[in-house]
Amino acid sequence: MTETVDQARGIAATRVITGKPGEVIEDGAVAIRGTSIAWVGQRGELPEEFQAVPLAEYPGGTILPGLVETHAHLGSRPGSGPRVPDVARHDQSWNALHSVHVLRQLGSIGITSAQSLGSRFYTDVAVREAVAQGLIDGPRIVAAGPMITTTAGHDWKDGAEVDSIDDIRHAVREHHKAGADVIKAAVTGGFFTPGTAQWKAQFSVGEIKVLVEEAHRLGKHVAVHAHGTQGIERAVEAGVDYIAHATFISDDGTTRFEPELADRIARAGIYVDVAAPPSYPLVPGETIAPRAYELYSHGVRIVTGHDIGAVIPAHAYLFGLQQLEEAGIPRDEILLAATSRAAAAIGLAGITGVIAPEYAADLLVVTGNPLENLHALDHRELILMRGEQFVPEPLPEFVGREGIADGKPGSTEGELARRARQLHFKELQQW
Ligand SMILES: [Zn+2]
Repeated sequence: MTETVDQARGIAATRVITGKPGEVIEDGAVAIRGTSIAWVGQRGELPEEFQAVPLAEYPGGTILPGLVETHAHLGSRPGSGPRVPDVARHDQSWNALHSVHVLRQLGSIGITSAQSLGSRFYTDVAVREAVAQGLIDGPRIVAAGPMITTTAGHDWKDGAEVDSIDDIRHAVREHHKAGADVIKAAVTGGFFTPGTAQWKAQFSVGEIKVLVEEAHRLGKHVAVHAHGTQGIERAVEAGVDYIAHATFISDDGTTRFEPELADRIARAGIYVDVAAPPSYPLVPGETIAPRAYELYSHGVRIVTGHDIGAVIPAHAYLFGLQQLEEAGIPRDEILLAATSRAAAAIGLAGITGVIAPEYAADLLVVTGNPLENLHALDHRELILMRGEQFVPEPLPEFVGREGIADGKPGSTEGELARRARQLHFKELQQW
């Protein structure tokens, strides 16, 4: 359980990574009052008013902003559950319980905010409220509700199918009414929905524009699921704020990075999460973020969204960060992508992701220096969410790449087989 912190208190460590680009405070301290950060700086410069506050010391440690996951699916997926006697009766409640389970796992690895990019029954909205109202301890949630898609399009089982401009306007307004913070739409097919074409757009530019216009009018950002280059192009033209996957599947079904399109994404300031399926044809030794380096080198604002819950389990988050390093992204860039930039990408700029006065006291303290070795993030000493200590739960051991896809060993191969089949099916259609 947690305790409420009303009085000021402080933490001190060998360094503070503030989340502002390039800013590291050696021998740093952070003062917290209530749910917010009151002061940060070198410990020797601690202002008078905080000198008497209790200071928790972490010698050899690093204080950094709580981590952010920008692409999570909290609930049980259709078809993978619930494991209850009567599915029709328990589907919704099981989905909610599953969401709380994933939420607690995210919190246990030091994630203090997460964006839910697709949830049946608007469960993510209810979970967000339960956290905000103190019913459950866990990360702050930015909720999308059900992913908007075409009839029989990717993720249609979430329950938000649209087929016309009026449908789109209605769906966005309906999501607003149900309390969504972000509008998520599938602008191409997806790998987990049989019969959809990942290389093709599901919406026209005009349709996506209406979705964006309506979402922005209501103060919500727009995140789109996009594997195919055609869908990425249309989304960029329509003015979306966030692209999930950006796999760059070309019209012939193969993966082909498009440098000019990447430049357009960079110029538009669109955030991109780099969780993507393997390239096709297969590239041996490829990371789980196959486009990350190319996007990064074109100046795209990449963020740490892993499709947690759909593709990788929550406790594989740190593996995801290590994969970015393996892909060639510098560690300081990875930490930005996982903190301040990720917070901005999910609409929380100025609220969390940075250690500075008036930001939420969402903090992680680890042993060692993650700027030198990302494994330091595995050695968590303290997790604070809005100034309250989060007590982590034991996490399952992460078994490595074979656990990725839907948590079942070998499912990566399964996904590739499905893809190869679909590509073959496409060839057959051309005959
Ligand atoms: Zn997803």
